[in-house]
Amino acid sequence: DPVPLHTPDRQPEDPDAALRPKSLGEFVGQQAARENLRVFIEAAKGRGEAMDHVLFFGPPGLGKTTLAQIVAKELGVGFRATSGPVIAKAGDLAALLTNLEPHDVLFIDEIHRLNPVVEEVLYPAMEDRALDIIIGEGPSARSVRIDLPPFTLVGATTRQGLLTTPLRDRFGIPVRLNFYTEDELLKVVTRGAGLLGLEIDPAGAREIARRSRGTPRVAGRLMRRVRDFAHVGGGGTVTAKLADEALTRLEIDSLGLDAMDRRYLTMIADIYKGGPVGVETLAAGLSEPRDTVEEVVEPYLIQLGLVARTARGRCLNAGGWAHLGIDPPSDSPS
Ligand code: ADP
Repeated sequence: DPVPLHTPDRQPEDPDAALRPKSLGEFVGQQAARENLRVFIEAAKGRGEAMDHVLFFGPPGLGKTTLAQIVAKELGVGFRATSGPVIAKAGDLAALLTNLEPHDVLFIDEIHRLNPVVEEVLYPAMEDRALDIIIGEGPSARSVRIDLPPFTLVGATTRQGLLTTPLRDRFGIPVRLNFYTEDELLKVVTRGAGLLGLEIDPAGAREIARRSRGTPRVAGRLMRRVRDFAHVGGGGTVTAKLADEALTRLEIDSLGLDAMDRRYLTMIADIYKGGPVGVETLAAGLSEPRDTVEEVVEPYLIQLGLVARTARGRCLNAGGWAHLGIDPPSDSPS
């Protein structure tokens, strides 16, 4: 099989797999997305058709892969997963598409990173459920159209704006995923603790939820680390005090910000006097790729109102200065 496929469920080394909800009912939060998907799933099943193509977009760890698997499960169809960067050639995608069973879900993670030649193959596949293949070379070359089984493409990306317009336009169902509230994460943590066999009291669960950066994947990671502290010298049960001590040792602060978040904020405050400063400059200073800064670090800091993205660059807001415990310079715009 020339196409590297993986079924996330079968990857024993994937620490997220154990915590993945298996149905829409088990999936916490994202209420609007869940309710809409339920309608589209029921309608497609009722008509006996493949569901329209779905695009999930939002920061990493909010449940895009999980929802893609749930959609397939609720539709009662097969699930195939791959990602944009691993589909090297048009032929790899063609092989994937021609091997689908009718109505299957094909999940492409990081779909904004598809090679443009591969992306071209996807357009007729999505629109007409057909492949246009060139046979032969030179003057005798001709194009042959191959019909594909009806299928549902589920794409995932961190930002909708990263997709080319023709690709974005071919998704009938765009779904934005948002950061989770503390109460939603409390449910994620409580459910996860049950699955991990972690004894936790309600205040301990809330402490982890509050410091999970609005992100279920982070909640899962923090739970596993706190479990280590609970099992080694912590008495076994996670209380608010134990969770606080463990998270503080992991350098997760009261807002759930980690060391990288604080380096980012401190750099704007100390070196650029609160900004504005360009994202390229910040990324270089942090020795991180610009994409990581824009897609992983910034969204949550903006959501908390600590930082603003302006036309002239990033600026620290009053809340950002307050969180760092620094007085803004007297000529600062905030
Ligand atoms: P993404 O594809 O958006 O990066 P994933 O779907 O891989 O995120 O989810 C990351 C982790 O968070 C997984 O372990 C998943 O089980 C968990 N998770 C995500 N969304 C939820 C949710 N709504 N309820 C419970 N757990 C969730």
